Amino acid sequence: MIDLMRLTAHELKEGIVRGETSSYEVVNSLFDRIEKIDRDINAYISLLKEEALRKAEEVDRRIDRGEKVGKLAGIPLAVKDNICVRGTKTTCGSKILENFVSPYDATVIERLKSADAVIIGKTNMDEFAMGSSTETSYFGVTRNPYDLSRVPGGSSGGSAAAVASGETVLALGSDTGGSIRQPASFCGVVGLKPTYGRVSRFGLVAYASSLDQIGPLTKDVTDCALLLGVLAGHDLRDSTSGDLEVPDYLALLQEGVKGIRLGIPEEYFAEGLDPEVNSSVMHLVQQLADLGAEVENASLPHTGYAIASYYLLATAEASANLARYDGVKYGFRAEEAADLDDMYCYTRSIGFGDEVKRRIMLGTYALSAGYYEAYYRKAQKVRTLIKQDFQKAFERFDVLITPTSPTVAFKIGEKLDDPLKMYLSDVYTISVNLAGIPAVSVPCGISAEGLPIGLQILGRHFDEATVLRVAYAVEQVVGGAIDGL
Ligand code: GLN
Repeated sequence: MIDLMRLTAHELKEGIVRGETSSYEVVNSLFDRIEKIDRDINAYISLLKEEALRKAEEVDRRIDRGEKVGKLAGIPLAVKDNICVRGTKTTCGSKILENFVSPYDATVIERLKSADAVIIGKTNMDEFAMGSSTETSYFGVTRNPYDLSRVPGGSSGGSAAAVASGETVLALGSDTGGSIRQPASFCGVVGLKPTYGRVSRFGLVAYASSLDQIGPLTKDVTDCALLLGVLAGHDLRDSTSGDLEVPDYLALLQEGVKGIRLGIPEEYFAEGLDPEVNSSVMHLVQQLADLGAEVENASLPHTGYAIASYYLLATAEASANLARYDGVKYGFRAEEAADLDDMYCYTRSIGFGDEVKRRIMLGTYALSAGYYEAYYRKAQKVRTLIKQDFQKAFERFDVLITPTSPTVAFKIGEKLDDPLKMYLSDVYTISVNLAGIPAVSVPCGISAEGLPIGLQILGRHFDEATVLRVAYAVEQVVGGAIDGL
């Protein structure tokens, strides 16, 4: 009997390649599990059962015949519903794209297909990735598998919950201000936002193009390294992707932390941080020091301006990116309009949810003549200062360690009516996107109420290898201690 809860890709892969485990059986039992529990969790917007079983069978057959197979041969993987998979719906959690079928594959999907991964479904998310709780989805809230009355985090809440509840082995998320790392932390899984430019954005529906990155959500750090290795690399179809060699992330994992210089930014351990999260993260840092890491305090003095800067820049970019949903080219169109203006107006009023409309209005305002200098331009300048903070810090440190989120998973409905409170749950994750650096969230403990706590490791541009190496050390220290489910 396969234990779907604990099944990792690297273990499964060995079994499949040796012909001991059949991908078909694993995928089939995954769908059984999804049928049983996803009514409660609501991690998926759509399932691709037929295609997945066909692909799994094909991989099994090729292995039987002794043919060469890819790095993720037969491994089930779920995809956030803002990443295009040809011939399937890509809704972005929105009514406006409810029936949109993608005519092409995102670059990451092409790579996954040629690595022989099995795509099993599309996961729930905050509408257009705007949110921190998956509550703004048109397709209903996703529930945290550790406690169904709580959110899984967001916006990649469906992917995080699916990994945590054994409804998939691997998942993809996207991260504009924390949307991979914060749900990873709330659901007790590993989530990595790669360096801006490490993974192609071609085929990722844009929220804020200068901040968005696709990345892995997995059960352990080894799977994270394995999946990143498949996703990463230059792509001519994304001019912001970096033309740099992709290291063998798996080979570097076990180097240990001896001699690694760890910075602890004091601004991230200030007011608003839950004491339990604080002590869990600091306890782990102490254990890394015991293993030979050199730990010292660091400072990122412009941290306090990050939220304001992010919510101006992200909404400004979103207001431009979302202009294309006008009822003409894509998706939903309101039929009751008398003329063209009315059609635009009704389509967008009915098609978008409240949070998305709030962001479009904020962004349009920030970009409008007369306010551009005061808001947008100023936010860009702050972004540069934040980048410089990190540049300076990384002259002294190899990585920085912070909590991923100031709290554990909060209750469904708790912050929905107070956007500012919701935005504050990104306080430790958004600077990373503004600076374009990589960061991973890895489980580091469990709260008294039995909820996972995540620790965040931040690294230099394109130095995912060191970030993952430290994450692996954290995982070794924590061991099975966070097996709360
Ligand atoms: N919660 C943040 C926002 O609402 C980040 C979302 C994300 O990373 N996609 O913008």
